[in-house]
Amino acid sequence: MKKEYKQLAPDYRLLLGPGPVEVSPRVLNAMSKPLYGHLDHKFLDIANETMELLRYAFQTENRMTLPMSGTGSAGMETVMVNLLEPGDSAIVCVSGVFGQRLRDMAGRCGAKVISVEAPWGEIIDPEKVREAFKNNSNIKLVAIVHAETSTGVKQPLEEISRIAKENDALLVVDAVTSLGGTDLKIDEWGIDACYSGTQKALSCPPGLSPVTFGKKAIEALNNRKTKVNSWYLDLSMIQNYWGQERTYHHTAPINMIYGLREALLMVYEEGLEERFKRHQLNSDAFVAGVEAMGLKMVVKNKEHRLPTLNAVSIPEGVEDAAVRKYLLEKYGIEIGGGLGDFKGKAWRVGLMGESSSRNNVILLLGALGDAFMAQGHRADVGAAITAALNVYQKTSR
Ligand SMILES: *Cc1c(COP(=O)(O)O)cnc(C)c1O
Repeated sequence: MKKEYKQLAPDYRLLLGPGPVEVSPRVLNAMSKPLYGHLDHKFLDIANETMELLRYAFQTENRMTLPMSGTGSAGMETVMVNLLEPGDSAIVCVSGVFGQRLRDMAGRCGAKVISVEAPWGEIIDPEKVREAFKNNSNIKLVAIVHAETSTGVKQPLEEISRIAKENDALLVVDAVTSLGGTDLKIDEWGIDACYSGTQKALSCPPGLSPVTFGKKAIEALNNRKTKVNSWYLDLSMIQNYWGQERTYHHTAPINMIYGLREALLMVYEEGLEERFKRHQLNSDAFVAGVEAMGLKMVVKNKEHRLPTLNAVSIPEGVEDAAVRKYLLEKYGIEIGGGLGDFKGKAWRVGLMGESSSRNNVILLLGALGDAFMAQGHRADVGAAITAALNVYQKTSR
């Protein structure tokens, strides 16, 4: 007997977690278009436009700005394997899961790794980075996460960039959950290499990882004594496909690039400034709502909260899994659970890209209140919604 399979028909979901998030029908539609060959000049035009639109999103003039094949972690690995050689020294800032992952990758590249840490939920203190430079010599790069998705912290970068420059080190930034959702100025802030992902604030399905390399990072790549320790992620070869030469390295994921181009076009049409305002407003309204319900945000300092990823502390006695299961079953809403040290202690609410909307904020506040009541907890849903609406009323957006 032949096993029977049904045609794919996903159930309704509203993705309000740490990614993937909602994707516009425009992007899904673009991805379903017929393929070009990856060396067809018509496709190369699309590839070029994708790079142009990526430069807009990254706020950079960097020529080497392109989407790597693979999810955000592939971008992280691209930056680390291309810039680090065995015997190099690197400062890695760690205040959550993604900082830990960066540190792991730096170590795997054979680098001597110096960790600069901060408690989860707080930013890395630039003074600690300065100290690490004082106590160690010949540091090649500083790696840091701009938007720590495991804690909801937005890390200020300018001071750390200055410190890296004073010490002639490269600054490497993880912008997976910030690109397209909150301000990120590659050139103005002096970021030498940066990577992101498609399924977070760019609101595209997962599968590509935009990276950008500035002059100094390319110099470091060109001055390597050893070959890059990954064939697939070796930018010195990949740039020959994305650059003038157009030589085959690996087959470009055509339809993923269609999707990314469309998602970036939507970022461009909305405009970065407008887009950042939208993300901030919806986050402010959501935070006002959960606080009015008596819940607390993980990140105490308002200035350091990410608008894209809102980490809410799970109150004593409330069962994490039961609430998330209720949201999924009754509403089709997915929010994220805690990661690493925050497992069972925090919910991660992603309000990014298409998911960052007034409708979703009001719906989620109501649904959360319902989930609380269903578990026998008190929840003032009226106060939560009123608080959120007040934020919207004040801004007339
Ligand atoms: C999601 C994420 C990654 C990893 O991206 P994947 O697409 O899951 O590989 C890396 N860094 C941060 C900050 C992230 O949020």
